[in-house]
Amino acid sequence: MPFRLMGFLMSEMKKYSFAIPPKTLKLFRQIGYLAESRNEKAYAVGGFVRDLFLKKTSPDIDITIEGDGLAFAQALAAKTGSKVEAFTRFGTSIVIISGFGKLDIATARTETYAQPGALPDVEKSGINQDLFRRDFTINAMALDLSPKSFLLLLDPYQGLNDLKKGRVKALHPLSFVDDPTRVFRAVRFEQRFNKRIEAETQKWLIDSIGQKSMNTVSGERLRNEFLLIFKEEHPERAIARLGKLGVLPMVHPALGLSASKRRLLPEITKALGFFHDHKIHLDSPGMVWFQAMLLTPTPVQAEALAKRLMLSRDEQKIVVQHAKAYPALLKEIASKKTTPSRIYRLLSPLHPEVQCFLLAAAPKAVRKKMTDYFLKMKNLKPWLRGRDLKEFGIPPGFRYSYILLEALNGQLDGRFKSRKEVIQWVKQAFAPAG
Ligand code: ATP
Repeated sequence: MPFRLMGFLMSEMKKYSFAIPPKTLKLFRQIGYLAESRNEKAYAVGGFVRDLFLKKTSPDIDITIEGDGLAFAQALAAKTGSKVEAFTRFGTSIVIISGFGKLDIATARTETYAQPGALPDVEKSGINQDLFRRDFTINAMALDLSPKSFLLLLDPYQGLNDLKKGRVKALHPLSFVDDPTRVFRAVRFEQRFNKRIEAETQKWLIDSIGQKSMNTVSGERLRNEFLLIFKEEHPERAIARLGKLGVLPMVHPALGLSASKRRLLPEITKALGFFHDHKIHLDSPGMVWFQAMLLTPTPVQAEALAKRLMLSRDEQKIVVQHAKAYPALLKEIASKKTTPSRIYRLLSPLHPEVQCFLLAAAPKAVRKKMTDYFLKMKNLKPWLRGRDLKEFGIPPGFRYSYILLEALNGQLDGRFKSRKEVIQWVKQAFAPAG
C-alpha cells in the first residue's frame, strides 16, 4: 500500500479508534502481540470494521489470521484461560473469552465455487485475497492488529469511501451468481444503514436473479436469510425492496409482494407492537412477516414452499392456516352478525402468528373487534369448569364438552353476567333432580 495512502488512513483511523471500547482495544493488542510471537499477522475484519466507521459498536468480532487460525485460536484460548470451539470446514473457530464475549477466528483464505450457490472450496491465502472473497466493499475492510502497524486500515476496495457515499457495492460482476444469498445481504445492509445498492451492483444483482441463480441455493440457507431479514429493526423496508427487485418469486412462485400486502407492511409493525405491549406470546414473530410475502398459495403450493424452504412443522402449519384464513375469515369477523363466541371459534384454533397477521390485515372497523377479543382472551377465565359439573353430579361423558362450550359462548356473548348465572343454568338444565 503506498505510504501516502497509509498515512491518510492512519489519521482517518484516529478519529474512529475512540469508538473501540477499551476492553476491545486491550484484547486487540494482546492478539497482535500473540500473532507476532507466532510469526503470523492478525486482523479485525468485516462487520466490526464497517460498524466502527458508522460509529456503532458491533457485538460480533471477526479476526482473520494470516497463518493458522485454528492453532492461533488454541493459543489465544490458552493465554486468556478461555474456551475454544473449532469448526474446521472453513478453518474457523469461536473463542469464548470470559468477561468479554465471543470472537470468531478464521484463517485468511480464498474461496472458489465448484458450482454457483454451493458452499465454497477454501484455500489459505493472504489478507488481500481474503478481503476479495467478501460480499461488499463496505465489508471488505480490515484493521491490522500487529504492534508495529496497530489499527492501520486495509481498504483495498475503497469500502470506506462507499460507506461515506452511502453505497453497497459488490466486488465483481459474478458475486451474486457465486453466492445468491448476497442478494438478501445487499438488501439487508442497504435498508439497515439507509444506503443504496450501487447502480452497477444492482444490475449484477438483477442479472443474477434473471439467471434463476436462487435455484442453486439450499433451502436451509434461504430460510436463514429470511430469518435474518425478519430480525432487522425494519423488516418491512427490506421486504418491500425484495418485492420491488423481483427476488421473491425467484425463490418460489408462491412468494411475492402483492400491492395489497405491500400496503399492509406498516400495519404488521403495529400489530406486532400490540402483541408485544400486551405480552401476547409469539413463538416466531418472523412468521408474521413471512405471511406478507405469501401469494395465497393453494395447499399443494404451500406444501411445495414448505419443502423448498425447509420450514418446520409449525411454520408449515402457519402457511396453511394463513392460506385458509386470509382474507375470508376477516370478512366473517367484519359481519355485524358475528358474535364474540363465533370470533373465538374462528381465531382460537389459529397460531398466534396467523392471528397477529390477521389483526394487521383487518380493516379499521374490524381491528377494534379483534383487539377487544385479544384483550378479553388474555384474561379470560371460564366461569364453568369440568370439575364443577362433576360436583353437581352430572355423569362425565360427551355432554361435558357441549355444556362447557355453551357456558363459554354465553359468557363471551354476555348472555351470562356472572359465574352465579352460569351455575344456575347448569343446575336447572343438567343436574340430576334431588
Ligand atoms: P451483521 O451486522 O448482520 O452481523 P456482518 O457483516 O458482521 O453483519 P456476518 O454474517 O457476521 O455479517 O459476516 C461477517 C463478514 O463475513 C462480513 O462482514 C463479510 O465480510 C463476510 N461475509 C459474510 N457472509 C458472506 C457472504 N455470503 N459472502 C461473502 N462474504 C461474506
